[in-house]
Amino acid sequence: MAEETKSPAELSAGNFITEFIKEDTAEGGRYEGKTVHTRFPPEPNGYLHIGHAKAVCVDFGIAEKFGGMCNLRMDDTNPTKEDVEYVDAIKEDIKWLGFTWDDRFYFASEYFDKMYGYAVELIKKGLAYVCELTPEQMKANRGDLSKPAVSPYRDRPVEESLDLFERMKNGEFEDGKMTLRARIDLASGNFNMRDPVIYRINRIHHHRTGDKWCIYPMYDFAHPIEDALEGITHSLCTLEFEDHRPLYDWVINNTSVPCVPRQIEFARLGITNTVMSKRKLRLLVEDGHVNGWDDPRMPTLCGLRRRGYTPASIRNFCERIGVAKTNSVVDYAFLEHCLREDLNLNAQRVMVVLDPVKLVITNYPEGQTESFEIENNPNKPEDGKRTISFSRECFIERSDFIEEKIKGYNRLYPGNEVRLKSAYIVKCTGCKKDDDGNIIEVYAEYDPLTRGGDTPDGRKVRGTIHWVDAESYVDAEVRLYDNLFTDPEPDVGDKNFLDFINPSSLVTLTGCKAEPSLAAANEASRYQFMRLGYFCADKDSTPEHLIFNRSVSLKDSFNKK
Ligand code: ATP
Ligand code: MG
Repeated sequence: MAEETKSPAELSAGNFITEFIKEDTAEGGRYEGKTVHTRFPPEPNGYLHIGHAKAVCVDFGIAEKFGGMCNLRMDDTNPTKEDVEYVDAIKEDIKWLGFTWDDRFYFASEYFDKMYGYAVELIKKGLAYVCELTPEQMKANRGDLSKPAVSPYRDRPVEESLDLFERMKNGEFEDGKMTLRARIDLASGNFNMRDPVIYRINRIHHHRTGDKWCIYPMYDFAHPIEDALEGITHSLCTLEFEDHRPLYDWVINNTSVPCVPRQIEFARLGITNTVMSKRKLRLLVEDGHVNGWDDPRMPTLCGLRRRGYTPASIRNFCERIGVAKTNSVVDYAFLEHCLREDLNLNAQRVMVVLDPVKLVITNYPEGQTESFEIENNPNKPEDGKRTISFSRECFIERSDFIEEKIKGYNRLYPGNEVRLKSAYIVKCTGCKKDDDGNIIEVYAEYDPLTRGGDTPDGRKVRGTIHWVDAESYVDAEVRLYDNLFTDPEPDVGDKNFLDFINPSSLVTLTGCKAEPSLAAANEASRYQFMRLGYFCADKDSTPEHLIFNRSVSLKDSFNKK
């Protein structure tokens, strides 16, 4: 699916969700004349990942497209593992992507009183009852496709259920002792409709409502009510909720909620060589396989941000993968491709040597320094120019020199000429080694007539290498990242994703040599280190200890496919 990218015309043509919404808001449609209103409902039990970014782009993006509104709602009806830390992080990530919920920020737990009221309404209508089966008994009585479920408490008098439900709320019964079940259809082919549990007893402290409640609503009951109370017209969610839609509609149709939202499902996003469930991501963090939720190898938005991903690249990615009705796994290379496109246009070009060896230009006067003006970004002349200095000694990559020529190698070896990017053509004359045979210096002579890197006589110089002046440079630490997992689909089937952790997903280089302008790098800076890739300053980088993360390499493996 990622293989074919869409043209702008195809993009603005929309998708099946926008088609539904157009129908709904058109003349005679169910929401004729109404403002489109969506919501993004994360459960605050972890950080947002790139899969959530897709949902954010769908929810907020579609509202934006129709001139509507999108609410941000923390789905905190399940009180386990919720944390204020996550709430703040979720807000930060959505803002970073460039979306706004204005003042429409809600917690589902704000509606607990109303939900309780709607549950009582259902009991009074004979549409819900208190059941005393244990979870095991309930499971054993579920029936199968040819056999209806059995529910011995289903015909309990309304008054009795009302009384028991109130006493459930008042804490008179132990956890798990009773549930409230919707009275729908024990023979339904859709098991979600076989008198589903809509309330259970669970004595867990809630991070917002404290110990006020010891009964909590189930998702399938709570979610449609939350949507209706907020006036949501279109409740967009992922495909796993498709089989729950009849229950969603049942709750809406059988309670006196103030509006009738429409649930529409779309496919979940999966990406190769990573895992996407919050539970698995949390395990990676808690077991120390990565350095926190914002480790640049994580598919979380904070991880991608630290890695150097831009909001534009992620929104563009989400737009181009599109929304469909079939789950699919998108190649990680496509995400990288979207970042590379953005950075190719916008990143400043600089020179950094990762694995330095000194190059001495023996015919260049000692003590002399000159400077060159180079463009910050050839794709954006408006970004101006900066000055870099050049003197008798500079650093080059160790791999840009070999002692003996090999076929196809156009860089430095004795007798060969190369261009020091934007400076001069130099001819290699040899090298010096230490007692162990390691090369410690490379020697060359420059041609003063080639200032700027041009050959006035038109002679051909094939290799161009980057360099950093040894008279003025800054040291830097550089972190190179690779896939977190060696297997493209580390968690499908019965695979244990922890078995596929890539041991070389992080390589840290120290003592790298960078041109001095990089001392001013900040979190917003985006660079192309010439010939090496796109980089950004890590959040822990300081002028005294510069740290750069490789966001993505230059080579596009996506285009090749
Ligand atoms: P996870 O399985 O990662 O824990 P979740 O679905 O439990 O995810 P929620 O916080 O409930 O996480 O998700 C909030 C919204 O984001 C939901 O509407 C959900 O459908 C959507 N969402 C979650 N994961 C993906 C994904 N991989 N692709 C698209 N949408 C997603
Ligand atoms: Mg969830």
